[in-house]
Amino acid sequence: MATDIETKLRAPDAYAVARKTLEIMERNKVWPTPQNYELWAHFVCDPTGLLAKEIGRILSEGGIFTDGACDELAAAHLGPGKLTEQIQDTGDALTKELDSVSQAIKSAQKLSEAYGVTLEYASKSLGDDQVDLRETVENLAEATRRIQDENRVLETRLSDSNLEVTRLRLHLEQVRRDATTDGLTNLANRKAFDVEFQRMHGDSKVEGHALTLALLDIDHFKTFNDTWGHQTGDQVLRFVAGVIGNAGNAPRLAARYGGEEFALLFPGESSEQAYEVLEKIRIEVASRILKRRSTNEDLGAITLSAGVAELAEGESAHELLERADAALYVSKKSGRNQVTRSETIG
Ligand code: GH3
Ligand code: MG
Ligand code: MG
Repeated sequence: MATDIETKLRAPDAYAVARKTLEIMERNKVWPTPQNYELWAHFVCDPTGLLAKEIGRILSEGGIFTDGACDELAAAHLGPGKLTEQIQDTGDALTKELDSVSQAIKSAQKLSEAYGVTLEYASKSLGDDQVDLRETVENLAEATRRIQDENRVLETRLSDSNLEVTRLRLHLEQVRRDATTDGLTNLANRKAFDVEFQRMHGDSKVEGHALTLALLDIDHFKTFNDTWGHQTGDQVLRFVAGVIGNAGNAPRLAARYGGEEFALLFPGESSEQAYEVLEKIRIEVASRILKRRSTNEDLGAITLSAGVAELAEGESAHELLERADAALYVSKKSGRNQVTRSETIG
C-alpha cells in the first residue's frame, strides 16, 4: 500500500513539490542525488514527520549536509528503493534532455578536435613539396564544411532544448501556483502557509531577526452566512482576503488559514509594527458598507478580530501559533472587532 508521502508525490502537485524540494536543497547546498532528493522531498511533503524533524534540527543547529550526513539520514529513515514513479519519471525526463544536449556537445567537440588535427596536418603538408597542394586545400575545405554543418546542428539542438526547458519552467510555475494558492481568495493556501511559516521560523532562528505572526478571523460569520447565504458569504471572504492580501506583499505572506480565518506572516517585523498593519486592515474592513451584488441590498458592515504574536527566544513555530491564537481569542472575548498583541496579555 502506498504511504502518505508516496501519495503526495504522485498527486497533481508533484511538480510543485519537486520545485520546492530542489529550491530547499539548493539553499542548503545539498548535492542533488536521487537519495538526497528523496530525503528532502520527505522534508517538504511531511514537515511534521520524524525525518523532517531530524533535518529541521540539523538546520536549526546550523549543521552542514555533507554526503556522510545525508547517507546517515537515508539509512535511518528511508527504506530501500522507495523512489516513487513520479520522481523517477521527472528525473528520467530531465536526465534524457541533459544527456542529449551533452551528447551533441561531445560530438561537436570530437569534430573540433579532428578539425584541429586536419589543420595541423595541412600546415605541415604545406611545407612538403611532395604533397599535392590542391588535395590539401580540398581536404581543408571539406573539414571546414563538416564542422560548420555540425555547429549548425548543435545550435538548433541547443535552441530547441532551450525552448523545451522554458516551456517546462512555465508549466512548473503554473502548477506550483495552483498547488499553493487558495482557489476562492487567491491568497496562499494553508499548505503554502505551513511550509513558509516553517521556513521563516528557521530563517529567524539562524539569522536572529524578528518574526511576527497574526491570525485573523471574521466575526459572527456563521450568522452572516445564515442571513445572506453562502454565496454572498464567499463574496465577503474575497473582499476581506483582498484587504489582507494588499498588506501582505513579500517578504510578508498572507494566507487563508482555514474557512473564515486568515494568517499574516511578518518576517523581520516586530509585534508593534505588525499591530499597526492589523489595525489598518481592521478599520478598512469595518468601515466598508457591503452591498449584495445580485440585489444591491445593504449587507451592513463586517468586522474581524485578530491576534498578533512575535517570536520569542527559543520558541517553536507551534508555540508562536498558539500564542497568536490565544491573542485572537482575547480579541473575541473582549467584544470582537479588535486586535490584541500577545505581549500585552497579562
Ligand atoms: P466568531 O466571531 O466567534 O468567529 O463567530 P463565527 O460565526 O465567525 O465563527 P464560527 O467558527 O462559529 O463559524 C465560522 C463560519 O464560517 C461557519 C461557516 O459557515 C463559515 N465559513 C467557513 N468557510 C466558509 C466559506 O468558504 N464560505 C462561506 N461562505 N462561509 C464559510
Ligand atoms: Mg473561525
Ligand atoms: Mg469567525
